Amino acid sequence: MLSFVVRNGRLKRAWKPLPTLRRGWALVRVRMTGICNTDVEILRGYHDFHGTPGHEFVGEVAEVEGVDTRTRKKWLEKRVAGEINVACSAYGYKPACEFCRRGLKTHCARRTVLGIVAHDGAFAEYLALPLENLHVIPASVSDERAVFIEPLAAACEILEQIELRNYRTAAVLGDGKLAQLIGMVLDRAGCRVTLYGKHRSKLRLAREAGLNTCKVKGDSSDQKRLKESYRLVVEATGSPTGLILAQQMTEPRGTLILKSTFHGTAAVETWPIVVKEVTVLGSRCGPFRRAVELLRSGKVDPKVLISRTFSLREAAKALAYAQKRGVLKVLLKANQRSL
Ligand SMILES: [Zn+2]
Ligand SMILES: [Zn+2]
Repeated sequence: MLSFVVRNGRLKRAWKPLPTLRRGWALVRVRMTGICNTDVEILRGYHDFHGTPGHEFVGEVAEVEGVDTRTRKKWLEKRVAGEINVACSAYGYKPACEFCRRGLKTHCARRTVLGIVAHDGAFAEYLALPLENLHVIPASVSDERAVFIEPLAAACEILEQIELRNYRTAAVLGDGKLAQLIGMVLDRAGCRVTLYGKHRSKLRLAREAGLNTCKVKGDSSDQKRLKESYRLVVEATGSPTGLILAQQMTEPRGTLILKSTFHGTAAVETWPIVVKEVTVLGSRCGPFRRAVELLRSGKVDPKVLISRTFSLREAAKALAYAQKRGVLKVLLKANQRSL
């Protein structure tokens, strides 16, 4: 199959055999892949990953291994999205690790992560995932929307971590793909959201999605100029500088949620967090069911975030394009082919 791998900070085309399946795993024919900032960070050395990147996808089940006829029938040819953390149960590890036993599968001590940690991802014609990770996509949700399920679920994770009713307003720092999804999710859950970003065109999209916006410069001048503060601040700029502003904008006893995963360190003074007694929460992968429901109901329409679609063949070009200023979501589309 056609796939792409990370070699010396670049994306290289590679012809590989189809992934082999374990019991209870599915072979998924990728229909569409979303390019995420994490993919760009992987090129820069994030997680020292040298396999096939890509963790946002929609595909269809092409084969299922080692299950009864009923289960096989239930899954074959279904259009699916997939959770990216593969835990002990899927590998048959016994006993399961401490975190799996506590029900924290996304934190499994032995996990692999699709397209990020020791598990080839969706910049390819096919990928393999355990059935327990797959979610069937309703027919009414198009591929272009379904490919956002993974990042949308990550945005929804915030709703699992805090009682949003306790916060009437929130600031989301960043105007990129994830920040916009977070803004929409918090807004639809009843919170008044102001999105702080650098790009006029991206802020316009956010306003069209019903959010308040504020233009910032993205440098230290923002810290002097901005006097607003919020009980809830979400840092999703994807850059180390966002964190400084984010902690400044969080009220005493407020909550600061960190969503950016960049490669490298952030130089931040931490004393204000101590003095203000700020609760800092890291936030990563979230509930797929919630994301599917937001798409099915039409409450969130991420299609506005698509900048351009490339064919899988052009993955390297697409990844370069995704790093251009002003570009939001870039998609890869598989070539049409039958089973
Ligand atoms: Zn991602
Ligand atoms: Zn585990």
